Amino acid sequence: MFCHSTIIRSLIHEINYSWLGRPSNTGRARVQAAFSLLGETGAVRVLVVEDEVHLADGIRKGLEAEGFAVDVAHDGTDGLWRAREHDYDAIVLDIMLPGVNGYRVCATLRAEDNWTPVLMLTAKDGDLDEAEALDTGADDYLTKPFAHVVLVARLRALVRRGRPPRPVVLEAGDLRLDPGSRRVSRGAVEVMLTARETSLLEFLLQQAGTVVSKRDILDHVWDDDFEGDPNIVEVYVRHLRNKLDRPFARESIETVRGAGYRLDPEGG
Ligand code: CA
Repeated sequence: MFCHSTIIRSLIHEINYSWLGRPSNTGRARVQAAFSLLGETGAVRVLVVEDEVHLADGIRKGLEAEGFAVDVAHDGTDGLWRAREHDYDAIVLDIMLPGVNGYRVCATLRAEDNWTPVLMLTAKDGDLDEAEALDTGADDYLTKPFAHVVLVARLRALVRRGRPPRPVVLEAGDLRLDPGSRRVSRGAVEVMLTARETSLLEFLLQQAGTVVSKRDILDHVWDDDFEGDPNIVEVYVRHLRNKLDRPFARESIETVRGAGYRLDPEGG
């Protein structure tokens, strides 16, 4: 902050100076320097998490040349730490990383309600599925090798877009529900559910691993003031089992006697 105000004061001094009709070449140069310094202190701050040191260095130099302020982490653990400690405008995140991999870094940040835009770097040989990158909460991905101008353009677009919180795809093993599109799948098979069944599955997935009572389910999936037969929950759980478990010889929803239901976090 001290640095900022000093620069601004010097800038104002120079402008006043030129209003007095006495601009000098040195003065102009100093104004330009002040402007460029202001630009630098207001720079877009980017974290690059990439274990290939050469590539990380190249990205850093390239981005710095474009006026970005860049921090580099060479493994997932350090990347995650930095992302938590500092307020970045965007994160460039490699998938295959020592320590914590890129998927985990991104999913962990999202689970902690950190919505810093993430651009994932993927290898051309397909060490990952792009859809998977986006499912873990990444905002965009770029396949290696990429042109530097493309990286810069994508980063600028991400930073402009900001960080609206978005729901991440809910998963339990190979059971998936995309809260945005309301699509449900078991492995590669898309399963058609009614709106109510989808809401019930969504609630169970959000609480995966813990026992939820019929009352909780009624309060969240039906209206708060639902006065009908609570056994409606059993009926809907049976629907889910018939659609999501039975055809796949799985058992994802456990009945906990006297307590409620528990969705297996592994998907059954
Ligand atoms: Ca890597």
